[in-house]
Amino acid sequence: MRYISTRGQAPALTFEQAMLTGLARDGGLYVPESWPQMSPDEIAALAGLSYEDVAFRVMKPFIGDTFTDTEFRAIIERAYAGFHHDARVPLVQLGANDFLLELHHGPTLAFKDVAMQLIGQMFEAALTRKNERVTIVGATSGDTGSAAIEAFRGLDSVDVFIMYPHGRVSDVQRRQMTTPDDANIHALAVDGDFDDCQARLKDMFNDFDFRDGVKLAGVNSINWARVLAQVVYYFTAAVSLGAPMRKVSFTVPTGNFGDVFAGYVAKRMGLPIDRLVIATNQNDILHRTLASGDHSKSGVTPSISPSMDIQVSSNFERLLFDLYDREGAAVAQLMDDLKERGGFTLSQGALERLRAEFDSGRCSEEETAETIRFAQEHYGQVLCPHSAVALKVAREQRGDPATPMVILATAHAAKFPDAVEAACGIRPALPPHMADLFERKERFTRVANDLSAIEDIIRKEARA
Ligand SMILES: *Cc1c(COP(=O)(O)O)cnc(C)c1O
Repeated sequence: MRYISTRGQAPALTFEQAMLTGLARDGGLYVPESWPQMSPDEIAALAGLSYEDVAFRVMKPFIGDTFTDTEFRAIIERAYAGFHHDARVPLVQLGANDFLLELHHGPTLAFKDVAMQLIGQMFEAALTRKNERVTIVGATSGDTGSAAIEAFRGLDSVDVFIMYPHGRVSDVQRRQMTTPDDANIHALAVDGDFDDCQARLKDMFNDFDFRDGVKLAGVNSINWARVLAQVVYYFTAAVSLGAPMRKVSFTVPTGNFGDVFAGYVAKRMGLPIDRLVIATNQNDILHRTLASGDHSKSGVTPSISPSMDIQVSSNFERLLFDLYDREGAAVAQLMDDLKERGGFTLSQGALERLRAEFDSGRCSEEETAETIRFAQEHYGQVLCPHSAVALKVAREQRGDPATPMVILATAHAAKFPDAVEAACGIRPALPPHMADLFERKERFTRVANDLSAIEDIIRKEARA
């Protein structure tokens, strides 16, 4: 399996190269050159397997010969050993045919752990074998950063720098990033919003001197290996609800489009997904795109579901590549328009394809709070605000009642205790392994939203 850039101007890479590189040198994102297929029989054979076994079978066709079967199985085992639930991602029944897929049983209580724990193990295995060291720089709206820090802390082959928007992440999120005391971990509080952090990260990848000098690697959701890890739970959930004999729908709280794109990949591979619903908060560029074809940025408004406070959904570029018949030049033009003019309009053909694959809905701040309250009263479930956004949109977009609807619960409510308490009166407690989070000492560097200021810090501290 080889990986090609969505902008058509970078060399094709192996899985290992694509994983270690992150962003392609033409500014594009790596995607597999074709979608591997799983037959109905192969899908049916996943029933009853452990999460780890399903992960092996679903991801195997994508990794080529980067790892032997034995190595890859061991990597997967190590990645999920730290999850606090035997099912790894348990399915909870809410209503007659509505289910919650709990993705927050990993070490940092958000679904980012599912991919990041795996990527940590894969990086360590690949780098140790090559006797190399890299500098990982990440931008986070809150959850990716701590997930990356947990996955890479203490590892010898990597230094990790995480940029987060100063003052715009929850206290729990910030403390998860600023309290680990490992020497290879650096938290950078940037004076800007998440889109600024993400833009500086892209700038660093396009500054080839810097990129090569510190051996820059990315683990943001632009990294293909992240998306791949998330494909797995669409399979485990759908199979336990009757796939391939029965179709299953999913509603996904969406920011950077990584998680819901993984659902699209599962569908391309042959998983019978009926509807794939994009749920946004008030930062609704994706919902507006589906409604009108107009993909225009309108500025980020902070919300109580901060991990989705995004207007530049990086992974949307991967979908655009398919919507435009995999023509890199067309994608490059659209991404140019987005950068230079703040937006673009989809062609009629692309819009029709988009609507054939996805549905969408939006959830306001008030509706998010109402839904947290509703879920508590009605189902006895205390949801995080992101999961509540998905539940609201799923109820609206329900479709055929005979088709199971799976709502992705992307974080534990205790990561957002203020918003949850304000909505339903219950203050969710941190699980025991994090109970002393507020007693630990914080350590971070505040930095201007300025490329050279950020690069200077990294050059000084990185060991690569
Ligand atoms: C990152 C995140 C999302 C959004 O996922 P994307 O892959 O960026 O679309 C939703 N909920 C939570 C809790 C998150 O951390």
